[in-house]
Amino acid sequence: MSLLVQKYGGTSVGTVERIQAVAKRVAAERARGHDMVVVSAMSGETNRLLALARAVHPNAPPREVDVLLATGEQVTIALLSMALEELGCPARSYTGAQVHIRTDSVHGRARITAIDDGRVRQDLSSGRVVVIAGFQGVDEGGNITTLGRGGSDTTAVAMAAALRADECQIYTDVDGVYTTDPRVCPQARRLERITVEEMLELASLGAKVLQIRSVEFAGKYRVPLRVLSSFDDGPGTLITYEEPKMEQALISGIAFSRDEAKLTIKGVPDEPGVAYRIVGDVASANINVDMIIQNVGADKTTDFTFTVPRADYRQAREILEKTADALKAREVQGDERIAKISVVGVGMRSHAGIASTMFRVLGEEGINIQMISTSEIKISVIIEEKYLELAVRALHSAFGLDAEAAAAVPLA
Ligand code: ASP
Ligand code: MG
Repeated sequence: MSLLVQKYGGTSVGTVERIQAVAKRVAAERARGHDMVVVSAMSGETNRLLALARAVHPNAPPREVDVLLATGEQVTIALLSMALEELGCPARSYTGAQVHIRTDSVHGRARITAIDDGRVRQDLSSGRVVVIAGFQGVDEGGNITTLGRGGSDTTAVAMAAALRADECQIYTDVDGVYTTDPRVCPQARRLERITVEEMLELASLGAKVLQIRSVEFAGKYRVPLRVLSSFDDGPGTLITYEEPKMEQALISGIAFSRDEAKLTIKGVPDEPGVAYRIVGDVASANINVDMIIQNVGADKTTDFTFTVPRADYRQAREILEKTADALKAREVQGDERIAKISVVGVGMRSHAGIASTMFRVLGEEGINIQMISTSEIKISVIIEEKYLELAVRALHSAFGLDAEAAAAVPLA
């Protein structure tokens, strides 16, 4: 008999009617084999709980925040199990602690370290649907922990790995992974399949379909993973572990982020230790430095530019002004109206010319590239934010990703 792990996100269980609809789907699935279900809190619930915490304590102890947040998922597991029983489908709900989802003790972003699946297996073999609270676990000291926002995805994938499930299905409010955000590019289309490496890049670049840790987990244990809609029937998108075939598109997706700001420090000494000094000061404030460029030195000085999350811009700028004084730099400049666009595809490994096509397309649209960074399967550029939509659409079409376009890619 096959074993399926299905995860339903917040909107999929957002109302009583939707919980009943999920119960119907699950009951039908169980007729075909064993089924385990992982759920999120009803949509909006985690935010509501966080607001309560803030109202009581502006900086509430993380341990207590976790005790509070874990209740959101506990409500959903109980309601879904009741709805299943009401349909005549035997079901049992469990919190993360009850099924021994062991984590480290980092409250608010704990990592799963072990799962003891004994109890779950017993229930499954006696024909029950097992309903598990996503997003939560328990540390060695018995304290409730949570896995970070969107963490139910990771619970589902970890459960599927532990039980060697035939498939882990993530049901959400979109019907799969898209070539880019359809709100920005109406020509975006659903991908039948995507490699785990591409999915990791897209998730880290801000595509919010799956929590990034769940993708890392899936990759490590090669969990067969599928993203699909809980509202319409359809095959969704399969995350795969093989290299794609030659005839497949070179680029799988275009990701972008407006959550960027840029800082430049000009005229710093061109000598050992200076890069460390600049980036180190910012990083010590827990600010994530992303893209970095250093100009070729001239007159024993150089310029240094890097990006930070937009929310950290003011703080990063203050820190950089101090570094600039200490290094006797010429000046500090900043820009908060930038965006990052990335093209992602494992096809880049075997094909030259992707970068030049990208640069040509942006050039033809009159869009200036401010910074560039590349990895084995990704090219990212920083541009002025106001050109973001134009750039995404132009690249989407140039790389043959448009809905009705053939997959021919005009290489430069
Ligand atoms: N309820 C949690 C959140 O809103 C976890 C999840 O939905 O995956 O982030
Ligand atoms: Mg989610």
